[in-house]
Amino acid sequence: MSRRKRVKVDNRELDEKLKQDDSESDQSEKSKVTSSSPTSLGGRRESSSSRTTDVKDAKKEEKPIIEETKSDDIEEINYKEMLNSLEGAAFQSRLPFDKMSSLEAECFSDLQGPSSHAFIQIRNRVLKLWFEDPKKQLTQEYAVQKMEPPYNGDPALVMRTHAFLERHGFINYGIYERITPIPGPQKGKQRPKVIIIGAGVSGLAAARQLVSFGCEVVILEGRDRVGGRIVTYRKGPYVADLGAMVVTGLGGNPVTTLSVQMNMELHKIKQKCPLYEATGNQVPKHKDEMVEREFNRLLDATSYLSHQVDFNYYNDTPVSLGQALEWVIKLQQKSVKHKQVCTQISTLII
Ligand SMILES: Cc1cc2nc3c(=O)[nH]c(=O)nc-3n(C[C@H](O)[C@H](O)[C@H](O)COP(=O)(O)OP(=O)(O)OC[C@H]3O[C@@H](n4cnc5c(N)ncnc54)[C@H](O)[C@@H]3O)c2cc1C
Repeated sequence: MSRRKRVKVDNRELDEKLKQDDSESDQSEKSKVTSSSPTSLGGRRESSSSRTTDVKDAKKEEKPIIEETKSDDIEEINYKEMLNSLEGAAFQSRLPFDKMSSLEAECFSDLQGPSSHAFIQIRNRVLKLWFEDPKKQLTQEYAVQKMEPPYNGDPALVMRTHAFLERHGFINYGIYERITPIPGPQKGKQRPKVIIIGAGVSGLAAARQLVSFGCEVVILEGRDRVGGRIVTYRKGPYVADLGAMVVTGLGGNPVTTLSVQMNMELHKIKQKCPLYEATGNQVPKHKDEMVEREFNRLLDATSYLSHQVDFNYYNDTPVSLGQALEWVIKLQQKSVKHKQVCTQISTLII
């Protein structure tokens, strides 16, 4: 099914992103990598179906850091090794290993030449320290203490780098043991107050982060439960995830860090991933392939509408992928009905 193909796409996209110039590795690029399943036609760069084709074409040139085809054990070892290297730490943080991202260049515009080189070395080392033990807060003092020569010569720069990485959520995120107390309000001031709309994983993660920065946070949730699109159905001995359940791509994915922090064991989905019908019988291969073909065809049609016809807005409102798919399906139904009527009429005439 398409989902299996997308896993490879995510790795390839991430790999490519990290090779790109710093101009393309800023915050906005980061969000593009994470939102690889587009929700709106306007924001799409290519359709999932054309990505599927790309993947087929790019198989030879594709060189993911985590080899999908290798055995589970090899992948696990590679991944651990990756995090234990400076390059791996930068990769996992979605930062270019040997240059500043544009965000970093903006925040550290006073650093030029050798100073900017020193910054990159320090930044990679701080990231590596974080990944070595993401269950514990990485303090500035520890980072200064552990910084190896010659990069320990400027403790102020180490502390500044640490503060930047923390402020932008590259370190000290997720579920970890705090060592220093949460910062209090500035003298004579109150804690900053933030209201977050929505208690899905994004809202909850943002709330946790803001609280760790010393903010007072209120989350407003429309439903009577937290989790948003992540929801688990439980009935008697039966448990089923109705929303997110698969970690699509470990490299550069903060969910990987979360799984380490929560001692969650990840199980690799095998290449053979059969689908079952409600009856418990396996879905026949031809049916599975037919649905996949149809799904990709629908995505092609919506991609055509978006890119060739430039149909991305309706009544000044962006058209979502879901809306576009519904319209294409309705058009198809209309066309099928039309053909059926024509056939009936021609049969009657004959
Ligand atoms: C069936 C399904 C399967 C999926 N499988 C996977 C998977 O295997 N792997 C994966 O990585 N991702 C998967 N996803 C995607 C993943 O679930 C989402 O990307 C993720 O949960 C989004 O989290 P979020 O917090 O950004 O948004 P949401 O989870 O949508 O949270 C938004 C929250 O805001 C609330 N809200 C919205 N508007 C308001 C308002 N005006 N006032 C108050 N509250 C409001 C909503 O009720 C909701 O609780 C899947 C999604 C679905 C639906």
